[in-house]
Amino acid sequence: MKYPDLRLFIDGEWVMTGRSAPVLDPATEEILGHVPLASTADLDRAVRAAVRGFEAWRNTPIAERTAILHRAADLLAERADRVATVMTSEQGKPWKEARGEVQRVAGALRWDAEDARRAYGRIIPSAGDTVLSVRHEPVGPVAAFTPWNFPAGSPMRKMAGALSAGCSIVIKASEETPGAAVEIVRCFAEAGVPAGALNLVFGEPAEVSEHLIAAPEIRLVAFTGSVPVGKLLAARAGAEMKPSLMELGGHAPVIVCADADPVRAARKAAFAKFVNAGQVCTSPSRFLVHSAVHDEFLDAFVAAAEGIVVGDGRDEGVTMGPLANPRRLKAMEELVADAVSRGAMVVTGGERLDRPGFFFAPTVLTDVPADARVMVEEPFGPVAPIVPFDDLDEALHVANSLPYGLAAYGFTRSSKTAEKLISGLEAGILSINHCGGSVHEAPSGGVKQSGYGKEGGPEGVEAYLITKRVSHLLVD
Ligand code: NAD
Repeated sequence: MKYPDLRLFIDGEWVMTGRSAPVLDPATEEILGHVPLASTADLDRAVRAAVRGFEAWRNTPIAERTAILHRAADLLAERADRVATVMTSEQGKPWKEARGEVQRVAGALRWDAEDARRAYGRIIPSAGDTVLSVRHEPVGPVAAFTPWNFPAGSPMRKMAGALSAGCSIVIKASEETPGAAVEIVRCFAEAGVPAGALNLVFGEPAEVSEHLIAAPEIRLVAFTGSVPVGKLLAARAGAEMKPSLMELGGHAPVIVCADADPVRAARKAAFAKFVNAGQVCTSPSRFLVHSAVHDEFLDAFVAAAEGIVVGDGRDEGVTMGPLANPRRLKAMEELVADAVSRGAMVVTGGERLDRPGFFFAPTVLTDVPADARVMVEEPFGPVAPIVPFDDLDEALHVANSLPYGLAAYGFTRSSKTAEKLISGLEAGILSINHCGGSVHEAPSGGVKQSGYGKEGGPEGVEAYLITKRVSHLLVD
């Protein structure tokens, strides 16, 4: 497979720049290509193009806009195999997982495109000769920033929401996984999205975000990534009084109650834990298991972890690839060392694999004290701390004790206990008796320091709309 020719996409043209950074294959550490980095002049051109693109796109009749977006989804679905190969080479996830991601994002685009057709306003009964109405309009040019863990999913969520709503967008996808974003933008361009409505840039992240957020033409900021960077960008946006959408990290608790089936719960939780090598913002990452079922859960969880085939995501049969970059590898080594120094036991894994690439073994820790870093910091990798509890209120207290609130999971056979978990867990995304992933038709997003704003469902398009109250006095 030839890795794509990486370019910026500004005002309908693929452009090179004077600076670049290497893109690594995390399974081999070889250089796949070079990603061009934008200068401030490139960013200014992208913003100017987005202003013109916004006028063209918002004035394109909704039926035509929707048809173009469906065409882009069709092109992407047709190219799913190729885009998946690009994604696996730059991010590491197994090819089937990557292909599933591409197919899902084509579906997400279709959903948002259809949902935008239903951005109904309303007429409100009012006195006399006045027609009082509420209308929704696209907010304007959007600046978006996306990370490397879902090289197709994350950029598409932003592009689909913004474009469906009628906005233009300047998106900075990850410099570490630029190929999938380039392939997606190619589909939109070929489908007929007008020049300037969609612009793709790469660059020095802080330089790009600083410049784009400050640009007066940019009306909304959308970010997916870590809590510290999200706080920084939200503060920048706030200083300009711009609305922002912040999809940040979490540290998702899993509560397994005494009445749950421990083997079933362990299999489902382990699958969700190790998918994408644990580099998912909603990954279950703190396992609180009732003492009555703890040992059975642990045995089944360890068996599932040991059944994972770690290797190059391009190889048939591999179920977990490398970590996406050396930072995650170092972070896993540090989290495990810290936990062990405080008395934790490594039941399985615990080390990087002795081969080139950023491979880390699926890891299970027990006897982990509450103050171990892995219990309070988002691991964002294949490390699972499992701790027992005796009292459900105490487990809920531990689950809610962190400043994050993205995802949470509960396992129980009792509907009463399930309701207690649903109302008691501080999280924006909850799953009971399984570890569900995100779906097009319902919103995903966090509470507390995990951010604000939603992606998916009607809320995902609404986020890119403004509301106008119109009071129209009828005159002759
Ligand atoms: P990081 O905080 O340096 O970067 C996270 C993302 O933000 C990257 O894509 C990066 O390019 C971008 N970024 C960094 N500084 C930026 C800036 N000033 N302006 C705009 N974008 C900026 O960390 P990392 O090492 O890439 O990832 C590690 C942590 O990030 C993980 O521990 C995890 O918590 C978090 N993360 C979360 C998500 C998510 O989906 N919520 C995705 C990826 C990473």
